Amino acid sequence: MEKNIPYKTYLNEDEMPKQWYNVRADMKNKPAPLLNPATHKPMTAEELSAVFCKELVAQELDNENAYIDIPQEILDFYKMYRPSPLVRAYCLEKILDTPAKIYYKFEGNNTSGSHKLNSAIAQAYYAKKQGLRGVTTETGAGQWGTALSMACAYLGLDCKVFMVKVSYEQKPFRREVMRTYGASVTPSPSETTEVGKKILREHPGTTGSLGCAISEAVEVATHTEGYRYVLGSVLNQVLLHQSIIGLESKAAFEKLGVKPDIIIGCAGGGSNLGGLIAPFMGEKLRGEADYRFIAVEPASCPSFTRGKYAYDFCDTGMVCPLAKMYTLGSGFIPSANHAGGLRYHGMSSTLSQLYDDKLMEAVSVEQTKVFEAAQQFARIEGILPAPESSHAIRVAIDEAMKCKETGEEKTILFGLTGTGYFALVAYQKFNDGEMSDYIPTDEELAKSFAGLPKVD
Ligand SMILES: *Cc1c(COP(=O)(O)O)cnc(C)c1O
Repeated sequence: MEKNIPYKTYLNEDEMPKQWYNVRADMKNKPAPLLNPATHKPMTAEELSAVFCKELVAQELDNENAYIDIPQEILDFYKMYRPSPLVRAYCLEKILDTPAKIYYKFEGNNTSGSHKLNSAIAQAYYAKKQGLRGVTTETGAGQWGTALSMACAYLGLDCKVFMVKVSYEQKPFRREVMRTYGASVTPSPSETTEVGKKILREHPGTTGSLGCAISEAVEVATHTEGYRYVLGSVLNQVLLHQSIIGLESKAAFEKLGVKPDIIIGCAGGGSNLGGLIAPFMGEKLRGEADYRFIAVEPASCPSFTRGKYAYDFCDTGMVCPLAKMYTLGSGFIPSANHAGGLRYHGMSSTLSQLYDDKLMEAVSVEQTKVFEAAQQFARIEGILPAPESSHAIRVAIDEAMKCKETGEEKTILFGLTGTGYFALVAYQKFNDGEMSDYIPTDEELAKSFAGLPKVD
């Protein structure tokens, strides 16, 4: 029989990971390199250094070192809001009447309300260390922009955020949090950049997309002395920083003498999922253990389940390097009625390679089903989950219900990446019965795939 498992398990300060884990070191098939959009040759460290900080470029290109020391200053910052708890969802198990054991790792216990702070502080730290004045970035729902503003405020860096226009208008309070931390927030597309003006000319009245905001942020970073661009997801370096989630989870499970069977995470650009599964995937890659990994994405933006594994632009303005990834095409903009986050057209190259190698599964879920799971979870476990996180809740519940049918006592771990306080417009829609599901047609996707760059 299993011993008594506490509702929450925390690591002690001396048990906290001191190094990040780089899963690429253990991958036989490495993720494909970023390509220069003009020459289609792999981006060199020097080329990347025009956009990103030096140390982050080194991390981006490092496919060899499995462990990378976390600088003391970052460890000190982590201590302010980590470790995050590993929670046994006893109440959820009971209401589902399932023999499955459900755990979640909760990353919402900081002001930014999500896991994004784990990478924000790392990226801001390396920018500061390089002697830069500030950083630029994009934000969609606002979690990344908020996390980065917090990190920059702490380190005394300037922070310029381009916020997708529709979110800027729908989520005014997110903007106020960022401004309180000292960031400047510009709705994107804007008239403040060349690429923004071009997008506005071509698509008057557009409410923007992450791809547009990235183009604007990169333009400002590369045209302003002492600035670099930082990105909150997708990149290898971000997955590396987010491995803190998986490392803590694994250490907590070891403390409990428990091993998860199924690990589930929502996937937008792939950073929380990549971080959560990293050390477990490492064991699987080295043949030491086996796990099922499930990526959950919205049916309205199904990069893994309906995308193509191809080189694509990371942004709409086509100023960024090309990345090989599961993608819907950089011109893909999810339907405006999609309220549930995870709107990015592409997916982390690392996760794309793992998925292509069949080391990981993916499912897509419709947003009304996601919000039903969110509501059920909130009512029984107390936490109001972010819509993004609720994709993982949906599939954790579905897997637990399968266990009920088969009588299997599987141990399920899912990533609860954040809280839902800033997604109340989406909750309002759901509560008013006005939420609908939009699934792109094959024709729409074909149109978007037609814009993929031709790379041999
Ligand atoms: C940004 C975000 C996500 C999705 O991003 P990934 O890079 O795929 O992890 C998921 N949940 C929350 C709460 C977020 O803020």
